[in-house]
Amino acid sequence: MIDLFSDTATHPSTEMRRFMCEAEVGDEQLFEDPSVNRLQEMVARLLGKEASLFLPSGTMCNQIALAIACRPGDEILLDRTAHPLNAEAGGAAALSGAVFSALDGPHGIFNVEQVAAAIRPPSRYAPRTRVVSIEQTSNRGGGVCWPLELIHAICALAHENGLWTHCDGARIMNASVAMGVPAAEIAATFDSVWIDFSKGLGAPVGAALAGSAEFVEQAWRFKQRLGGAMRQAGIIAAACIYALEHNVERLADDHRNARMLAERLVVIPGLRLESPRVETNIVLLDVSETGRSPKAIARELHERHGVRVSVYGEHTLRAVTHLDIDLSDVQRAADAFAEVLELKPAFDR
Ligand SMILES: *Cc1c(COP(=O)(O)O)cnc(C)c1O
Repeated sequence: MIDLFSDTATHPSTEMRRFMCEAEVGDEQLFEDPSVNRLQEMVARLLGKEASLFLPSGTMCNQIALAIACRPGDEILLDRTAHPLNAEAGGAAALSGAVFSALDGPHGIFNVEQVAAAIRPPSRYAPRTRVVSIEQTSNRGGGVCWPLELIHAICALAHENGLWTHCDGARIMNASVAMGVPAAEIAATFDSVWIDFSKGLGAPVGAALAGSAEFVEQAWRFKQRLGGAMRQAGIIAAACIYALEHNVERLADDHRNARMLAERLVVIPGLRLESPRVETNIVLLDVSETGRSPKAIARELHERHGVRVSVYGEHTLRAVTHLDIDLSDVQRAADAFAEVLELKPAFDR
């Protein structure tokens, strides 16, 4: 099985499991878990913030940050493809009473003018525009990175208008490695930012939300309220520490593998890349010119060749490289695509 479905598909390695076994633990709610405390310090340093908070998932990081920033009736600006808008079960509305205003950026990346146009002047009729949120890297954009200058310009404009700036950093380390820029520099102008350990970093579970000490103090309250406060969480925090210490630089391999995969796929008739270039570990393929549905292609890849990719809309397949995928897997996956697409007639939806 070659699992390109998601970078969440990684399994904890033997070394990571051993490190977890040996973790010192305590009650994290009483600040007595040395491993959780250490991880939180590492993340604060990594992202250049005063403090950070260990949480079970990236979704909870997004939800807590938005809940702290927003009052009911407030408005969040984000790309139409962004995770909180599409994949968090309506959490911002349900938990914070906030509304979304979706911006349409090419490949998930909107510009300063769009933000300027979307910020509403104060009015008792309109929702109060309160947050601008970006996703680094943009998943639905095909893993493309937000350039630093754009981030700085958007955050400056947001702050001039009294907005909160939030960075969904599910893949911020992919961006950091691809851009050759420290994560702290990417995070610098955001009021809140988080990192996911269960994506490309290869841990089984965990995320951490960072910001000012005051913000993290407030975040603790929501962690407790949402049932995210754990006990001897050092067992899983250890996996995250291990991931930060061993699995960051090697993200460059995932990026190279994704580029190799893309190069081998674009020569297959009917396959097109959706994003202009593969910057990180995500390959989005437009299959419309094959005359076949993404679903049919994905099913055949899986059933006949043991290659798993995800269906990402009406015309699109997504393949994601990660820790458990090497160059030979990429080659075999590309061969499987070639077989599926070249040997089959065009109308078997
Ligand atoms: C996966 C993901 C999330 C949510 O993270 P979980 O840890 O799965 O809850 C949020 N944003 C983006 C861009 C993601 O890819």
